[in-house]
Amino acid sequence: VADVSQFRAWIADTSAMLTEQAEHLTDLDRAIGDGDHGTNMARGFAACAALPDADGEGIDAYLKKVGMTLVSQVGGASGPLYGTFFLRFAAPLAGATSVGPTEVAQALRAGVDGVVARGKAEVGDKTMYDALAPAVRAFDGAASGGADLAGCLEAAAVAAAGGRDSTEPLVARKGRASYLGERSAGHLDPGATSATMLLESAARSLG
Ligand code: ADP
Ligand code: MG
Ligand code: MG
Repeated sequence: VADVSQFRAWIADTSAMLTEQAEHLTDLDRAIGDGDHGTNMARGFAACAALPDADGEGIDAYLKKVGMTLVSQVGGASGPLYGTFFLRFAAPLAGATSVGPTEVAQALRAGVDGVVARGKAEVGDKTMYDALAPAVRAFDGAASGGADLAGCLEAAAVAAAGGRDSTEPLVARKGRASYLGERSAGHLDPGATSATMLLESAARSLG
């Protein structure tokens, strides 16, 4: 189970990882985009990690602030998408002070559905959704098998990494990389790479 302090730890760990990996993400985005994904993400999550610790704040209120901060601080295509992810993730957790696999399964599904509602990506379009879609499925599978929250998140992170790797040969059909057509093939998608980091960080921090 996880309470608000663990959700804060998730965001802090994600921020640290993105800062460390900013150059890698930017290199990936330089190959098939405009070379700003690492700096965009590191800046946005640093702002989230710096959000003041409001006394008695619920998990949903905190994660809504994270979502709004990402929308305003990340920018580009990924800011509104990650922002929507957290705003939608927060909604099913309203009123909860401590959550387990059932609640996080609902939140994760709502967050990923929000990314799709906003960006209209399908699996195979070479976007962050290629990492997020298998992560949701793996989380649900682990939860129905009786895994605890840590186990479900670990399964989700492994599935996300597989989805990330699957983007390498693909031709992009959404976002800036799609302007390159066939030339987008042969590179990992930056957003699928950052989405995997977010889930790996969740597996380390929650549960
Ligand atoms: P920008 O392309 O505006 O510079 P970023 O570089 O921060 O934005 O983010 C690029 C990432 O956003 C891509 O690698 C991809 O994963 C993701 N992305 C772009 N468009 C979409 C979309 N419509 N749906 C889902 N993800 C998308
Ligand atoms: Mg970019
Ligand atoms: Mg950009």
